[in-house]
Amino acid sequence: MIVVGAGIAGLAAAGARAEAGRRVLVLEARGQLGGRATAFVDRATGELVDNGQHVLFGCYHETFTFFRRVGADAHVRVQPSLEVPYLDASGRRSVLKCPQLPSPLHLLGAILDWDALPWSDRLRALRVAVPLLRARRGLGLQTGDETVSQWLTRHGQRGRLREWLWEPLAIAALNQSPAEAAAAPFLRVLALMFGPDPRDASIVLPTTPLHEMYALPARRFIESRGGEVRTHALARVHLAGHRVTGVDVRNESSGASRIIAAVPWFALAQLFTGASSLMDSTIAAASRMASKPIVTVNLWYDRAVMEDAFVGLPGRAMQWVFDKRQAFGERASHLSLVSSGAGDLVGLDNEALVTLAAREVAESIPGARNALLRRGTVIREKHATFSLAPGQPLRPAVETPVEGLFLAGDWIDTGLPGTIESAAIAGHRAAGALLK
Ligand SMILES: Cc1cc2nc3c(=O)[nH]c(=O)nc-3n(C[C@H](O)[C@H](O)[C@H](O)COP(=O)(O)OP(=O)(O)OC[C@H]3O[C@@H](n4cnc5c(N)ncnc54)[C@H](O)[C@@H]3O)c2cc1C
Repeated sequence: MIVVGAGIAGLAAAGARAEAGRRVLVLEARGQLGGRATAFVDRATGELVDNGQHVLFGCYHETFTFFRRVGADAHVRVQPSLEVPYLDASGRRSVLKCPQLPSPLHLLGAILDWDALPWSDRLRALRVAVPLLRARRGLGLQTGDETVSQWLTRHGQRGRLREWLWEPLAIAALNQSPAEAAAAPFLRVLALMFGPDPRDASIVLPTTPLHEMYALPARRFIESRGGEVRTHALARVHLAGHRVTGVDVRNESSGASRIIAAVPWFALAQLFTGASSLMDSTIAAASRMASKPIVTVNLWYDRAVMEDAFVGLPGRAMQWVFDKRQAFGERASHLSLVSSGAGDLVGLDNEALVTLAAREVAESIPGARNALLRRGTVIREKHATFSLAPGQPLRPAVETPVEGLFLAGDWIDTGLPGTIESAAIAGHRAAGALLK
């Protein structure tokens, strides 16, 4: 049995199959495992640098199942409860911190105690309590073409509460502007984060570079169960009529008849050879899905500049900054600044992006004001996630009309935005469907 693609979805699927005692072959086109959640060596410093900061939440239950299975759960740090430090434009620090209360009262308690907001804004948060509780029960999720912005307005969310909490959360979770993204996936994220267990809202940060965090442990797990993970293995899957008839990697062909294609929407059309009209509509829909970018700027200063491991910068182009020194220890000495939904920034050149990021750091982070910036790099992930705008093509299920062919990846119809958790759910679903 073959899994094509060694991102989260492919490795989660292969890990589940391996655990069930099946021999799996994973084929990955690149030289590196991890797909959109990976790391590489920065040549100038020798440090391992993530292709973009990844934040997980306590509610990523399928992801943690995958991590525990392959022994990756020790490579993350989980907050005891949601705690988010912010720095305003002048560098004033405030913290949104959930008290020990049942969920979602803990969020309301945190907002009521958050001195960055005027009292009128804090009280406004009470108006989302009912829609949130309904969303937890699966109600009110049919929002049609309503966008996140429209939903927030309908529920009276405005002012600083909206600018500092809901909009940054929506942009981070959906990688798209709230004015553009559909409300339904945002509500699903809120329903999961503020579900019955208060720790579901906790922020979870990797303590190692991404491919070391989960991809290498997954590879070791699969290999320890008799499977194989091959890199530099761009695969083409043969379809004939209603069946899979084989997989080609360079000049080698295998007669495999059961495949999990864990490739992203933008790579699906190139995956297949042969003739089967059964996949035409899925391929056409995948090709029509729009992509959304994330821009990351990494900055190396001559000293440690941050008090917190990460901090929100409301109103800034770079919405979050992470101190990789605090995350990875001595092996890293850079800050990683993230701009999600970065359609406006992605076209700027590297110098402009580094200058912008360094200015925002100097203005917001008091410790950076006298520090010397030694180096800045930029990573543009143009296909970071798929668009959640109303009217985008429907997302497919893992099952396909072709016998032996299953799909996986964050873009499968999990109801969630393009996230690690969506990819892990889809990987596990595909593995489960194949076992049936
Ligand atoms: C910069 C950035 C920041 C992000 N931040 C977050 C975050 O904070 N939290 C979060 O939850 N999510 C985040 N995401 C989203 C998350 O990374 C993705 O949802 C997830 O990694 C998708 O995994 P996947 O397995 O579905 O796809 P991918 O990671 O894209 O894996 C697919 C793999 O298939 C391979 N492949 C494609 N075609 C072939 C072929 N023909 N043969 C062989 N191999 C092939 C690709 O090379 C790739 O390795 C972020 C993404 C980016 C880019």
